[in-house]
Amino acid sequence: MDLVYVQKVSISCKRCGNAGAVYRREYSGEVLCRRCFIETFTKRVIKTIAKYGLLRHDDRIAVAVSGGKDSLSLLHVLNKIEKDFPLSELFAITVDEGIEGYREEAIRYVTQLCRSIGIHVEVVSFKELYGFDLDHLVKEGVLNKLGLKPCSVCGPLRRKAINTAAKRLGATVIATAHTLDDVVQTYFLNALRGEKKQHNPGLRREAKSIIPRVAPFRLTPEREVILYAYLNRLPFQSYACPNAPKSMRNMLRRFLSEWEQNYVGSLFAAINYFDYIVKANNTSEYSYCDSCGEPSSGKLCRSCELVNKVIGIYHRLVK
Ligand code: SF4
Ligand code: ZN
Ligand code: ZN
Repeated sequence: MDLVYVQKVSISCKRCGNAGAVYRREYSGEVLCRRCFIETFTKRVIKTIAKYGLLRHDDRIAVAVSGGKDSLSLLHVLNKIEKDFPLSELFAITVDEGIEGYREEAIRYVTQLCRSIGIHVEVVSFKELYGFDLDHLVKEGVLNKLGLKPCSVCGPLRRKAINTAAKRLGATVIATAHTLDDVVQTYFLNALRGEKKQHNPGLRREAKSIIPRVAPFRLTPEREVILYAYLNRLPFQSYACPNAPKSMRNMLRRFLSEWEQNYVGSLFAAINYFDYIVKANNTSEYSYCDSCGEPSSGKLCRSCELVNKVIGIYHRLVK
């Protein structure tokens, strides 16, 4: 794994002086022991929440948990932070897309962590909501017919599933584990798609009857989220979804991660730039998708139109 560890034993934590530093923050020069890393990590999440007003003291927070290191870390750290806010509630939502040999393990880890910290987890499946598994869409040739890759369809279907479960549970906000890396990738992807109508990913945006989505890790690099999971011994799914390598996002992830390694601090520079540009251009009157709340020129956004199309074709093909 590509983490910047420093030699234990020989280097002391520059924050508390204890021997056995475990991490060097390249962009700030900090060298930290386990305890100081976890403390500064948690403080950054609290600061991010406060800076953007992501959560309220009495929110019913639904954490979208996939079973990977990012989402389990988010659930773990929010559970600690939330203890200071007795009026708030926290629960987890996990989606079973129906990807054979992959999702079962992830759901096991989610259930295990939720049980150990005493949090309710709601599992929703594509099968229950839409009548098919993601694997069926591939096998029945629906994706080929539309010329789409699995992730292009799975993403919007997952989003819809999480919204449905969050509404069912009376959530007032959905917290997702998108990291600094993810948010910058999203901005680049939107730019490469020529998407003019966009909003700042991971910031709280109230729109009609839509449950807002927030990303408390939007200022935390992915490598630190991975380290947090390791240092807290969170059991997370270690292998990627078999469909992941085919996604556009994955190509961009590799490119941006290499860029960051060569030009440290670029991801922070990029998020500041895009946040500013997108916010500054976000003053015009947008209409929002009736189904998911994303900016949209019609009643439904492109993703929701796609979801409806896929559902329609699947049911026509199998009947
Ligand atoms: Fe779905 Fe793609 Fe994520 Fe796999 S990698 S769970 S197919 S969005
Ligand atoms: Zn220390
Ligand atoms: Zn939509």
